[in-house]
Amino acid sequence: MPNPPSDAAARRGIAPVICYPNDTLPSVDLDLLLDARKSARKTAEVLVPPRDARCFEVPAGHFFRITSVEGPQVGDLNLWNLHDLNERFYSGKTRALHGTHVTTGERLWSSFPFLRPMATIVADTLDWYGIDQYGGSVHDVIGTRCDPYTGNLLSGTQYHHCCHSNLTRALADHTGLEIPVAERLVHDVLNVFMCTGFTRDTGQYFMKASPVRPGDYLEFFAEIDLLGDLSACPGGDCSSEHSSDTAACHPLLVEVFAPAEGTLSGWQSPAPNGYDRTHGR
Ligand SMILES: [Zn+2]
Repeated sequence: MPNPPSDAAARRGIAPVICYPNDTLPSVDLDLLLDARKSARKTAEVLVPPRDARCFEVPAGHFFRITSVEGPQVGDLNLWNLHDLNERFYSGKTRALHGTHVTTGERLWSSFPFLRPMATIVADTLDWYGIDQYGGSVHDVIGTRCDPYTGNLLSGTQYHHCCHSNLTRALADHTGLEIPVAERLVHDVLNVFMCTGFTRDTGQYFMKASPVRPGDYLEFFAEIDLLGDLSACPGGDCSSEHSSDTAACHPLLVEVFAPAEGTLSGWQSPAPNGYDRTHGR
């Protein structure tokens, strides 16, 4: 290893700068949304079986809630524009804008060239958790999704109930697309209820037992017409391992709620990003 420069300490001592100060993002009128939610009525529900996934549709202006039922369970969530599956949730940009974990008032952003809010988090019963002594927190946008390729790379396995495969099968079943086509549309997830972080000494991605208990939920407001796909991760509460059938797994409940007429006055579904897409040519 080369010797450090004589001013190494000074260079390390430079204070960090936030990459994307987010105070100019379009504001969220949480009061309006929470008010509309009070009189909203349930229109649909889907129970996602353990180690499997299910799709659900949420019209713009409706709410959807993901609830832990029966036992502690982590969920891997994909979102698409219902009318154009090329517009999908962009985990990396959501992380850049809001940080490694998301909670109430923060948004799930879509991929280029759309880059607009797809959903806004309106309730999170785990917001009390904060950031623990290991740097861990809940609902991350740092993990990708458990998948059979990494399992094969690391241990030579052929396991078919990783979130990646579960999301692929559910999308194929819901849309009629062939498995290889559906697979290419599956993307990095929001890890609902998962407790994760990076180790301070080696910078490695870690997970630990989720604090989620039956009755805990994360609730969203759909900013555009959405197709959702939720996998109940084979890791269960992700306290030990995933990519196998060893962990105890539980279902997850998805419920959709329609707002009462006139309760969202002033709200408008966001337009796609305003960049002109000429890229200097
Ligand atoms: Zn998983």
